[in-house]
Amino acid sequence: MGTQPRRIAVIGSGVAGLSAAHTLATSAQAAAGDLQVVLIEADERLGGKLQTSPFAGHPAIDEGPDAFLARLPWGTALAKAVGLGDELVAPTAGKAAVWWDGLHPIPEGLLLGMPTDVLALARSKLLTWGGKLRAATEPFRPRTSLAEDSLGGYVRARFGDQVHLRLVDPLVGSIYAADTDHFSLAAVPQIYDLASKARSILIAGRSMPKPAPNAGPVFYAPRGGMGSLVQATADAARAHGAEVRTGTAVAAIEPGAGGTGWLVDGEPFDAIVLACPAAATARLLAQVAPEAAATIGQVPAADVAMVSIALHARDWPRHMVGMSGYLVPKPMQRLVTAASFGSQKWTHWQVDELVILRISLGRDGLPVLHLDDEQLLAAAVEEVGHHIGVAMQPVHTRVSRWNGAFPQYRPHHAQRIAEAEGRLPAGLALAGASYHGMGVPACIRSGKEAAGRLTAMLFTMAQ
Ligand SMILES: Cc1cc2nc3c(=O)[nH]c(=O)nc-3n(C[C@H](O)[C@H](O)[C@H](O)COP(=O)(O)OP(=O)(O)OC[C@H]3O[C@@H](n4cnc5c(N)ncnc54)[C@H](O)[C@@H]3O)c2cc1C
Repeated sequence: MGTQPRRIAVIGSGVAGLSAAHTLATSAQAAAGDLQVVLIEADERLGGKLQTSPFAGHPAIDEGPDAFLARLPWGTALAKAVGLGDELVAPTAGKAAVWWDGLHPIPEGLLLGMPTDVLALARSKLLTWGGKLRAATEPFRPRTSLAEDSLGGYVRARFGDQVHLRLVDPLVGSIYAADTDHFSLAAVPQIYDLASKARSILIAGRSMPKPAPNAGPVFYAPRGGMGSLVQATADAARAHGAEVRTGTAVAAIEPGAGGTGWLVDGEPFDAIVLACPAAATARLLAQVAPEAAATIGQVPAADVAMVSIALHARDWPRHMVGMSGYLVPKPMQRLVTAASFGSQKWTHWQVDELVILRISLGRDGLPVLHLDDEQLLAAAVEEVGHHIGVAMQPVHTRVSRWNGAFPQYRPHHAQRIAEAEGRLPAGLALAGASYHGMGVPACIRSGKEAAGRLTAMLFTMAQ
């Protein structure tokens, strides 16, 4: 190599940017002194949507995500790589429910809300007999075209309105704060893959291998909250020489002098990982990649509020003990989308004499951030009190506002993003929730892959 190390800027320190910075800083090129990494974050705090803070006398209750899928490798792998492998805990097995004029346990045998077991569905009181019969006709229906790429459209065509509105929309929609009628089917690979291969989901789902009893937990959370993953990843990246800047909002990127490399607010770099949300990325790309910027700028995002509440354990209704929470389908919804009974779900969240709940409000098509904190809190207390049948008297409360919380993957999102990425000039790579999956593991993967593409480009070109 020449004497000058290559420099890569990572813009945005959400979990995608942290993963990119960590991958770059721990690369062979960085170890050899051939690569310098600078992580640049607008906020004073690292982590983006990963935020953990004290609540109700507990030192670390998450305000955003509280866990990640364990059956995708990237979350667990990053936690292990930064020394948190022994800190990962799994939720206690609690039953979840759906509110439909009363709480109904989620039936067994669902695949992201779609039935694979007609008998389990028949036993549930969540659907009417008409709804169950309609669902049971699924194996006799002709193949459903995937051309529309609408999750809601596909599920309704296969199973009817009730399975869609009472199961799939709340179960899947609540993960992404989505309205599944306007959400890409291809963005939910477990359903899309099955739908591409099989005519009938019910028949194909029934013959799918069940997870082995020793398959391990579905979710993991670091005992110190997701904020501990942020801290440990940033510390590891720093320990490997990465520079981490906070309170620095990048305002412009431009081509470098003589068309070589890039300038980030005037500072020269050889390549850039853009790991900020789509709207911010589109602004930064507007001059240098206008077509890609226009496409990326059209990825909308839904806002949500997360209201945390602690109640006296003595006020907690007995019939809720052992449950992990519940979901509220669209037709039943005022503002609350879901309530998670945090201290029942996570043993590391337990506080003596208290029950901690996290209540989500808002989703795509149901804006909530025009309401002030008091209004959000009042709505959460009133609606959840109604659902669980007690007048709730919180002893601790907290309102977390998430502007642009969840990018919305409209039908044909994947094609549009592939085209936009194909139009990016050399030396720029995208990472983060707006593109190829918005769960924490998918964001970590996107950061790793963006880092890998840029190092491959820089160091293959240099040879
Ligand atoms: C309430 C909530 C609950 C969730 N629950 C879960 C869950 O349980 N499990 C799960 O897997 N996922 C969950 N998610 C989704 C997941 O947390 C997010 O999709 C993911 O954390 C997004 O990471 P990111 O790095 O793409 O973006 P972000 O976290 O949004 O980070 C982007 C960063 O870029 C910075 N930035 C923006 N503009 C600039 C600029 N010009 N210059 C420098 N920096 C800039 C921002 O300040 C921010 O820090 C949840 C999300 C929310 C909001």
